[in-house]
Amino acid sequence: MALALPSTLAPRLLPLRLPKVCLALSADTVEDMLATAESMARDDPFLEFRLDYLKQPVAALPKIHRFLETHQYVTAIATCRRVDSGGKFKGSLASQLEVLTKAHAAGCLIVDLELQSALKAKPEAIARLRSRAGLILSFHDFRATRNLEETLEKMLKIPADFYKVVTTATTLFDNVAMMKLLQTQSDKHALIGLCMGEQGIISRVLGVRAGSVFTFGAVSADLKTAPGQVSSRDLRSVYRIEQVDAATRVYGVAGDPIEHSLSPVIMNTALRRENVNGVYLPLHAKTLKDLIHCVREIPLHGLSITMPYKQAILPHLDNTDAHTAKIGACNTVVRGQDGKLYGFNTDIAGVIRPLEQRLSIENAKVLVLGAGGAARAAVFGLKERGAEVWILNRTSAKAQKLARQAKARTIKRADLRKLAFDVIINATPVGMLNTRDCPLKDEEIQARVVFDMVYDPAETRLLQAARAKGIAVIPGIEMFVQQAARQFEIWTGKPAPAAEMLGAVTIALQDRAAQKPPRP
Ligand code: NAP
Repeated sequence: MALALPSTLAPRLLPLRLPKVCLALSADTVEDMLATAESMARDDPFLEFRLDYLKQPVAALPKIHRFLETHQYVTAIATCRRVDSGGKFKGSLASQLEVLTKAHAAGCLIVDLELQSALKAKPEAIARLRSRAGLILSFHDFRATRNLEETLEKMLKIPADFYKVVTTATTLFDNVAMMKLLQTQSDKHALIGLCMGEQGIISRVLGVRAGSVFTFGAVSADLKTAPGQVSSRDLRSVYRIEQVDAATRVYGVAGDPIEHSLSPVIMNTALRRENVNGVYLPLHAKTLKDLIHCVREIPLHGLSITMPYKQAILPHLDNTDAHTAKIGACNTVVRGQDGKLYGFNTDIAGVIRPLEQRLSIENAKVLVLGAGGAARAAVFGLKERGAEVWILNRTSAKAQKLARQAKARTIKRADLRKLAFDVIINATPVGMLNTRDCPLKDEEIQARVVFDMVYDPAETRLLQAARAKGIAVIPGIEMFVQQAARQFEIWTGKPAPAAEMLGAVTIALQDRAAQKPPRP
């Protein structure tokens, strides 16, 4: 990517073609830092050495020098952040400047100095440093995103090559403020801007499009140098940051919590596979108000809505389809060309599609366990296709209400053994997260097909029990894929690559299962 060249940029930096992602390297020893650099530099040739993580930064520089001599394609930033600016370096201002000067001599083309140090240093000392190295003047707010324009104005009084403004997003809307700063100021100054924190991901992925010269990526999910940092691999392969441009459509999944959502994996796989210029982000909305505020300002093209907003979002939509209104829950929002927000419910497709592949739904006898949002989608979808539906729920009043609305029946648990069903669907969370719970006893499982909406773990106790009785099973992952596939179709008008989506989410679930021990 060519830099948006500001008049302040030192001429020697003009030929630089900086990648969009700088890999932030931190480790306790220079050997570990360089081992990571060695293993990742081919994919990430733009590195930040966080020298403040090392006990003796100056003593480490000869080794960094040798690395940079043998890896001439690497562009390196040296950072030695002081403790009072959120780093680990406990030395004096003079020794910080000495480390950075020597780091430049060791081959780091760019050095990062925080505003607090720069304000204390003599202007000549900073000018001397900048006469040698490219200078990033940086500012970090670890609490909030506020006073961005004023902060930048203050920073601009100190001549530098890049101005880096990093704040903390406490709302999704904070990203909007950061991106506005980038959009209005990046044609005048070389800016690097992003919001830290889990809610800052919009700025980490879309900041470059708004005018940030580059952004920072972590070595891995475990090795972050800032809260909310995304790994450089995910920035490139999941969010395809190198391809994000003005025409890229932005989608997201909004909920609270959102950290463990598999939707970004599945949807970004589909967008990539179908060559759609789009990116799909996890949006941690702590309030619906924040989400709506953000949706109005960021041109989000489509949203997946998850817990706890599936019902609450309805009054904020301009229109919904008949299913969504009947079910009273929306899991898919699309912004029309008229700018209005339209709501859909694709959980119905998530239930119906896998069933249709196994049996004829018309006249099938189906037992639905649960009477919440997912059960409602199943019951209405099944009734519409001519199935006979029985509902069993922990709170029987809710089952009765749903049965009345959908013209279905309720059933008492004691009567279960008297009936054999074509299909049993579990639409409760029982069996989630590696618990050994099962919503039914073995003798209560009498059906041709058992469908468990729970998808983590992939193989629940209910599915195991059904398999043991020779009953065909539909794992929740199929519903997850099919409801996502329908969302993809609504948003893009293209058929969804369901097989690739299933492959991506299966791998993600296996990785997750390998990381967490089962609960007793
Ligand atoms: P919901 O609206 O909160 O409803 C939960 C339902 O489960 C309620 O009927 C509730 O009964 C019942 N329930 C909760 N805990 C229970 C327990 N310990 N024992 C018996 N019943 C219990 O949730 P939802 O959105 O419908 O989701 C239900 C499940 O489906 C979740 O596990 C969710 O992850 C899964 N789901 C999967 C997909 C997919 O793509 N695979 C899509 C949507 C949902 P009460 O009325 O008595 O509270």
